[in-house]
Amino acid sequence: MTPPTLPDASRTLRAIADYESEMLTVEEARRLVLSMVEPVQEVEPVDLRSALGRVLANDVLSPIDVPAHDNAAMDGYAFCSGDIATNGVTTLRVAGTAWAGRPLHGTVDRGSCVRIMTGAVMPEGCDTVVPQELITSTNPESIDMPQGVVRAGDHRRHRGEDLQCGQPALRSGRILHPADLGLLASLGIGHVMVKRRLRVAFFSTGDELRSLGQILDDGCIFDSNRYTLIGMLTRLGCELVDMGVVEDNATALDAAFRSACAAADVVITSGGVSVGEADHTRKVIAGLGEVAFWKIAMRPGRPMAFGRITDEGKSACLFGLPGNPVAVMVTFYFLARDALLHMMGASPAPLLQLQAVSEATIRKKPGRTEYQRAVVATGADGRASVRITGSQGSGVLRSMSEANCMVVLHHNRGNVAPGESVDVVVFDGLT
Ligand code: AMP
Ligand code: MG
Repeated sequence: MTPPTLPDASRTLRAIADYESEMLTVEEARRLVLSMVEPVQEVEPVDLRSALGRVLANDVLSPIDVPAHDNAAMDGYAFCSGDIATNGVTTLRVAGTAWAGRPLHGTVDRGSCVRIMTGAVMPEGCDTVVPQELITSTNPESIDMPQGVVRAGDHRRHRGEDLQCGQPALRSGRILHPADLGLLASLGIGHVMVKRRLRVAFFSTGDELRSLGQILDDGCIFDSNRYTLIGMLTRLGCELVDMGVVEDNATALDAAFRSACAAADVVITSGGVSVGEADHTRKVIAGLGEVAFWKIAMRPGRPMAFGRITDEGKSACLFGLPGNPVAVMVTFYFLARDALLHMMGASPAPLLQLQAVSEATIRKKPGRTEYQRAVVATGADGRASVRITGSQGSGVLRSMSEANCMVVLHHNRGNVAPGESVDVVVFDGLT
């Protein structure tokens, strides 16, 4: 199959329907989705304490040099490197003490040194620090420094070494991490402009679904997808509009789509897009916008609806995810997530895929991308080693809950033999 060419931005959303009759690869579907969404425009100021995970709305330029002065990187003695004896021990007279936050004023004479603490401003006339543990003999008045223990400029941090005044400290589109909060604080910045949160409305469809707290009637199941979505959307930093379970009938679905469209930038549904049910949902959505029902060469998560719905002049992007609990997560992570981040105004790095050695055989058919739930750990040889977690049925949420990563078996790949490398996407990282 030749891959469909992507529509350019000027083509209408109707373009996405062109791919309904074809089997799209995950990559094609992901890029199509991405090409159809725009970042939110509105920005708001936030206090640094509430800025974790928010998306920076503009570049932040450093208002100062960091560090603001040359300073000592070690506790020791600061002196002028011109005083290092070319032969034998250097003896220097101790002329005073420089503390962090309490600089020593005045110029240090040649032949003298200053007792200095880590972080203290380098006194005038000094360019080098000898760590105190390298001094052989000390008395209150002088130090002896053996030959060869320091070179000119050692253990001195330079003004502006981290950041120079006017340089971008963080770029627009950055999702703020803990280190960024510290970095901003180090610049004296207590507020930043961020994109407003992306509003995402979501509901589950299916007459068999019961919400928590309801009685589980015969043949019914509790709605779990909504909770998985709450988790995934919260982690992304979206504003949630939980619309509960919606009955599988035209009136209820139509009303739900309209109020979701009014309330949010994005609508995410689960269920009702599989072969048996798609026609029903399709009829309801047909009056609201342009939505394509795609078959995607992936497992789990084959069917997905994507497009835009409009009601009373307000429009929203729609992701109709499959109903199976694992398929919801896989389609969310590998098809919706990038687009949601783009809509949030973020410019994140692509999902990191690491290599791990498969402990066992994994059966895989070429011609579709498969996502297997797995546990990755460091093997005896120090390399990452991965093992699949139990039954991989797309309804088995336990396989996902027990996993710490997903093995991504790419489109053209066949069976995996024990000892072969596979790509894994790890769920949690230190960010
Ligand atoms: P569907 O895509 O609607 O045909 O659903 C596929 C499978 O996923 C069926 O077994 C549904 O019962 C199940 N399912 C659909 N929605 C949910 C949900 N919100 N929570 C748990 N299971 C669901
Ligand atoms: Mg259903």
